[in-house]
Amino acid sequence: MAAPKFIFVTGGVMSGLGKGVVSSSIAKLLQLSDQRVSCVKIDPYLNYDAGTMNPIAHGEVFVTDDGGECDMDIGNYERFLDQNIPKSHNITTSQVYSSVMEKERRGDYLGKCVQIIPHITDEIKSRIRSIAAAESLDMLIVECGGTVGDIESLPFLEALRQMRVEDGPKNVAFVHVTLAPSLDVVGEQKTKPTQHSVQELRRIGIQPDYVTVRCDQRLQDKPREKIALFTNVPVDDVLSCHNAGTIFRVPHMLYEQGFVNSIFEKFGKLGYINTSNNWKGWNETVDAIESTPERDALRIAMVGKYVALADSYVSVNHALRHAGAAIGRRIDIDLVDSESIPAGRLDGYDGILVPGGFGTRGAEGIIHAAQHAQETDTPYLGICFGFQLAAVAFARTSCGLDGATSTEIDVDAHNPVIDILPEADGTRDMGGSLRLGAIDIDIASGSRAESIYGSRSISRRHRHRYEFNTDYLDRFADAGMVFSGKSDSGRRMEILEIPESRFFVGVQFHPEFNSRPAKPEETFAAFIGAAAN
Ligand code: GLN
Repeated sequence: MAAPKFIFVTGGVMSGLGKGVVSSSIAKLLQLSDQRVSCVKIDPYLNYDAGTMNPIAHGEVFVTDDGGECDMDIGNYERFLDQNIPKSHNITTSQVYSSVMEKERRGDYLGKCVQIIPHITDEIKSRIRSIAAAESLDMLIVECGGTVGDIESLPFLEALRQMRVEDGPKNVAFVHVTLAPSLDVVGEQKTKPTQHSVQELRRIGIQPDYVTVRCDQRLQDKPREKIALFTNVPVDDVLSCHNAGTIFRVPHMLYEQGFVNSIFEKFGKLGYINTSNNWKGWNETVDAIESTPERDALRIAMVGKYVALADSYVSVNHALRHAGAAIGRRIDIDLVDSESIPAGRLDGYDGILVPGGFGTRGAEGIIHAAQHAQETDTPYLGICFGFQLAAVAFARTSCGLDGATSTEIDVDAHNPVIDILPEADGTRDMGGSLRLGAIDIDIASGSRAESIYGSRSISRRHRHRYEFNTDYLDRFADAGMVFSGKSDSGRRMEILEIPESRFFVGVQFHPEFNSRPAKPEETFAAFIGAAAN
């Protein structure tokens, strides 16, 4: 097999330019060109993983099948490529340093002085290379988080620089993502930030092969030529990455500008490839996402405490839209702050969704939202925390269990209908100590869940520390709640439903991580189906 090719994506000017979208899009268009591809995200921060980070600052924590708590870009890779990404594809400074320190203690470097170059950089290179080798990839796209010039990303960029020297320009390409701002709508696109950021990159020895320029409108010829001149990049390899109706248009945007031919030529991959059939399916998928009409949009209230940043629930947002696109309906998501829900605030929605969450703040508001959905028979979907607090709401209103709550909210709860996982009790570590990753769930015959999933067994991803307390099972059953999904030989409650409601469903797992364009995850499809009825 030919040596794998590496495409390294760096970012300049400022964060939030959509490096993740550019990386996913490059990967997608190469996948559509019949290449076996995958993506890696480097996060130069010191956290071991994203598990302990606040979603309001960093966006959602994306959970992989193998239980990784990852940067949300991993979710973009999965959705663009329609392929599961293992947690080894999210590399952080802590992981790299931990392995080097472990090796040092073991004596692997006996007699040597352990240094950033070569020991840290070797560890980084070896992680990247072993992913490409283990997965027999034709091409691996590696996105380096942060902005060029950050101290934290230096060892990573140095490692990438070395890989180009070692593997040669036929095997390694650099793509630098920058910004060309316009000060007013018709104004000229400014190139100075791009010039400076490429200078910064060259200062550490990296000459980009491509510059992808984020801009509101398509990059005009003059600024394109200017960028080419100042950055030493051929004008055809300065790519416009302008605003699009959906991020899923970006692969085609890059394709139109000749990216595939250019990179194949650079990598010495010759021969004409006709990929029009591959594009046909993808374009249809994107059309369906984009063409849902504004009129008769479905209005969904999403109730949670991380509403200050829409990215906190990015996979849920996507999953709702995948489900909407499948029935030709646009989805308007209204973020409702669970900390203060004025009377009437939840009226008139087609559906109420409670995503995952942690802690006491805003919990009573969520319980109120679940009660409101039950009382007004509005379709309700509760995910993880939304499952747990739906059980609390039901305990209070339908089972007459006074003061019912979760021990996450009140450790001395009078009726702890949600309680800590036995295996988590007593653990003090907050990092990596949740019940994580894909777990098999058995589904009860004849239940609504069986008709939702069309199966008696599914596998879904988890991320929680609390669960339903089975001491209360009989009380719930008597009051009309059915636990239609269970795991671990029936010991753990995974799905709840109220059969006589239009749609009142809670799931202990996170179905949003399995939803893909044109393949909405079943829980979302069923919820949106009920909301549309
Ligand atoms: N806080 C709850 C738990 O730890 C729910 C977690 C979640 O919603 N991801 O179990």
